[in-house]
This record gives sequence, C-alpha cells and structure tokens, in this order.
Amino acid sequence: MDLGLAGKRALVCAASKGLGRACAISLAREGVAITITARTAETLEATAAEIRAMTGASVTTVAGDITTEAGRAAALAACPEPDILINNAGGPPPGDFREWERDAWIKALDANMLTPIFLIRSVVDGMVARKFGRIVNITSASVKSPIPTLGMSYGVRAGLTGVVAGLARQVAQHNVTINSLLPGPFLTDRLRANSAAAAAQAGKSADDLIRERALTTPAGRVGDPAEFGDACAFLCSANAGFIVGQNLLMDGGTFNSMMG
Ligand code: NAP
Repeated sequence: MDLGLAGKRALVCAASKGLGRACAISLAREGVAITITARTAETLEATAAEIRAMTGASVTTVAGDITTEAGRAAALAACPEPDILINNAGGPPPGDFREWERDAWIKALDANMLTPIFLIRSVVDGMVARKFGRIVNITSASVKSPIPTLGMSYGVRAGLTGVVAGLARQVAQHNVTINSLLPGPFLTDRLRANSAAAAAQAGKSADDLIRERALTTPAGRVGDPAEFGDACAFLCSANAGFIVGQNLLMDGGTFNSMMG
C-alpha cells in the first residue's frame, strides 16, 4: 500500500531508541525526510546513520531535551514546517502515589502533557495553511486501563488526551489529524529497565518477568517496536485523513472489552 507520504517532512521526538525510533524508521521507509531528537548525541547519531543506511532517507538530528523550551526551539529550527509531528518523550518514573512531590508532578506535566501541546501549537497552523498535517502522540495503554505504579504517567497523559480530543476536531476540516497511539508492553529499553527494577524486588530475572508479562497478553507476547512504527506510519498516511481524535490501543488484546 502506498501511504502517499513521499517527500513529506516529519519531526519525530525522542527517537534514538524504542518506539520513537521505530516510528522514524517506518516513516523514512515511506520516503519521508525525518528530523529525529534525543538527549544523547552519540546514540542519536548512530540511529540516524542506521536509518540512512536502511532507507536512504534524509535524516537530520537534533540533540537536546525536548521537554525544555530550548530543546523544542532547536527541534523546530531544524524542522520548522513539518507535515508530520510524532510527540514522544521518556515517561515519568513508576512508584507509589505517596512518594511523588510537586516537583515530580511538574516535571511529568512538562514532559508528557505540556511539551506535546506546545509542539502542536507551534506547527498546527502551518499544517492547516498547507492543508495537510498528521500528528501522533505516543501515550500509553495505562491512559485507558490504569496501572497503579504508573499513576503519574497516565495522570498527565490523560490531560494531553483530553486537550487533543477537542483540538483534533477543530483542525480536521483542514486535513490535519491528531491521534494517539497507546502502547501496551513493547520490547524496548524502557520495558527492559522497568522489568529489571521490578525483577530485582521479586528476586527474578528481567527476562523471566518479561516472559511472564508476555503470557498475560491474549497475543501471548510483548509487542515488537516495528509493529508500532508501522501503525504510526499508517496513521500519518495520506488516506488516513478521516481518522480523527482516536486513541489506538496496541496492547495485544490485554484491555478486555467488547468495544472501544
Ligand atoms: P526507550 O526505549 O527508553 O526510548 C526512549 C527514547 O526517548 C530514547 O531515544 C531517549 O533518548 C529519548 N528521550 C527520552 N527522554 C527524552 C527527552 N526528554 N528529550 C528527548 N529525547 C528523550 O522508551 P520507549 O519504550 O520507546 O518509550 C517511549 C514512550 O512510550 C515513553 O513515554 C514510555 O513511557 C511510553 N510507553 C512505552 C511502553 C513500552 O512498553 N515500551 C509502554 C507504555 C508507554 P535519550 O535518553 O538519549 O534522550
């Protein structure tokens, strides 16, 4: 299927590893010129080189913290008029509700609610004027089905989900869509790190814990980031203009419901 994206420009945030990297690869395969960001320049450059070799696409890198004003300004200076924006950043740490002080909440709000909102604000009017725009927010399955230790994550992401629910419906008439992808467990460094921390407490290995987690999904496995990237590219495709304001769960069927 031709996604109709050749020649488009994408800003893919937090994309040197994991789900952001997978989205960048899938878009680059479609002929999209991508700008990718991450804080660690070395990993970012290595990923960029890998994507260029894999796809032949134009890849621009911007090293910086996307959750800061300076980080966002640098990303937008490198890719001032993106046709596609993939909002992503590291997630807040897991823990207990009683441990999270105001500073931790503000940091989480900055990273996972306000950063995507400010990036959308910076690019959406240009997309409207050009009559094409695709914005995908990487949130979390926990927005739909809370996981107690991730309260700070789904709490602030729920705020983003609420804001874009309205905004998506204001810009859709201009062929600008805003949707979110809600990952369940995908095999990334973050899943490995979270599993290692939980495994240490349970006296198990991280691999054992990931295997156990896999068995709790109806799919019987954890997700492959490449599957996530391809779903993202589809939501960005020229023919996906009628998919508006949706929260697409990718959790191997774990959320148990008849509809929605
Ligand atoms: P990951 O494998 O740890 O990759 C995170 C990527 O984001 C890295 O490239 C990292 O590079 C970059 N990054 C992190 N913080 C950044 C910042 N402030 N500014 C710029 N770049 C930043 O994580 P992942 O599993 O792909 O997760 C991506 C998002 O999906 C997270 O918000 C996570 O909470 C959410 N999520 C993941 C899963 C899962 O199973 N994997 C499930 C639910 C939700 P640097 O460290 O060099 O900056």
